Amino acid sequence: MASKSRRQFLVSLGALSAAPAVLAAKTTPSLQQLSADVLIIGGGTAGTITAIQAGRLGARTILVESGSQLGGTTTTAGVDYPGLFHAWTKQVIAGIGWELVTKTVELNGDKLPDFSQQTAKQHSRHQVRVCGPLYAALAEEACLKAGVQLRYYEFPTGIEAVADGWKVRLAGKGTQIEVVAKQLVDCTGNAAVVGMIGLPRRREAVIQPGTLIYRLTGYDRERVDVSALEAKAKEAIKTGALLRTDMNGGVRGFLGSGGHNNMHVMGADSSTSALHTDANIRGRQAVLRIIRFFKSQPGFEKLRIERLMAETGIRETYRIVGEAMITLDDYVAGRVYPDAICYAFYPIDLHDEHGVRPEPLKEGIVPTIPFGALIPKGSCNLMVAGRCLSSDRLANSALRVQAPCMAMGQAAGVTATLAVRQSTTPSKVSLTEIRRTLAEHGAIVPSPSASGLK
Ligand SMILES: Cc1cc2nc3c(=O)[nH]c(=O)nc-3n(C[C@H](O)[C@H](O)[C@H](O)COP(=O)(O)OP(=O)(O)OC[C@H]3O[C@@H](n4cnc5c(N)ncnc54)[C@H](O)[C@@H]3O)c2cc1C
Repeated sequence: MASKSRRQFLVSLGALSAAPAVLAAKTTPSLQQLSADVLIIGGGTAGTITAIQAGRLGARTILVESGSQLGGTTTTAGVDYPGLFHAWTKQVIAGIGWELVTKTVELNGDKLPDFSQQTAKQHSRHQVRVCGPLYAALAEEACLKAGVQLRYYEFPTGIEAVADGWKVRLAGKGTQIEVVAKQLVDCTGNAAVVGMIGLPRRREAVIQPGTLIYRLTGYDRERVDVSALEAKAKEAIKTGALLRTDMNGGVRGFLGSGGHNNMHVMGADSSTSALHTDANIRGRQAVLRIIRFFKSQPGFEKLRIERLMAETGIRETYRIVGEAMITLDDYVAGRVYPDAICYAFYPIDLHDEHGVRPEPLKEGIVPTIPFGALIPKGSCNLMVAGRCLSSDRLANSALRVQAPCMAMGQAAGVTATLAVRQSTTPSKVSLTEIRRTLAEHGAIVPSPSASGLK
């Protein structure tokens, strides 16, 4: 389009003024008032599913996401291999998360893993590889179809309890909004909303490292002198050109994957913008160190970046103090809580400065998640879903993975909506009704009499 006609076109859309450009006067955005039945903060792995479920049940739903797309760690941090939906070859998590994952696989012409093969010790074989950007697009489409109002680039700046719900102040680019909502669901991964309200949260003095996911290509693994390269890497670590945590699996680990999640960013934290900025900067600095190191080695002259995510993925920050808490003992014993709302299945998976050594569950064990672990202790009209559920640190190292986060998200969407319908708080909603509604929407719900899948 020629520049003159393009300007006329934009003027006709109202995107440009017909008058010549002038310096704009200082503007303060006016306060927009909104109301919702269910307000979800955080459109990541769990929050997206919460919103779709609440919307499908007819709740007036608003989903606030501080980033530019849905999916959170699954998409923006590039952990695009959600797991685990299957345990001991049987499906234990389904519902809306599974629906989106399988749609993504199908539309991209990819393949699901073979779930009939037992993989207790090689759990990664049952994670489903998805195209992250496509997952984000399909999740967005599902939200819109369910009538969910999406609000990207916004975040809460103030939260106040009011009669029958909450008044939440949001800020964003050129916007100031006040939402009055009946139910609030914290899906920020950091229990940020719970913290703003002033309810207790727990965290460790030393948290698990984060990872900036990337992949480098352009070298021939077979033609590399691995021993020589290892010696060079050791030297580089001594001089500070590389950090030991830049390549947890060492040179061999790097060569096998081209990077992937081989790097650890120690202390990476997303609970404030300043901390997340620092984690992103340190992740990118690590990638630069790695590229510069390999580029200077023979055989890596054509090294190039194939993939580099926009955010350092965060494994651990705050967890809530809930009405119930999942302990390591309960998790590894596969306790079926009387108020179980979904299953979870993953090895204990605590990363530290030395890497990670997953500890698989014993054969036949399938842990469950109790409803009480999603309810901040002493709260009203408030739930959480996702990695910040109430759990001890080791149990959380397994519960934080994506399939259980999605299942929790769906349970929170059902419960929040039923609480609105019944003008009550989530802890007073009938468990039978929650379970029935979840099952009607495709979720797999543990039966209270079940004892794992033994
Ligand atoms: C490197 C790495 C590897 C992993 N490997 C696996 C694996 O192999 N398999 C697996 O299943 N899981 C894996 N996990 C774990 C899993 O991906 C996460 O624990 C899970 O995705 C967390 O989901 P969530 O919904 O709690 O949080 P997130 O998906 O992080 O979503 C939180 C969302 O809230 C938004 N948000 C935060 N604060 C605010 C705010 N104040 N206002 C508005 N929005 C806000 C964020 O932008 C984000 O979109 C891994 C994690 C990492 C980091």
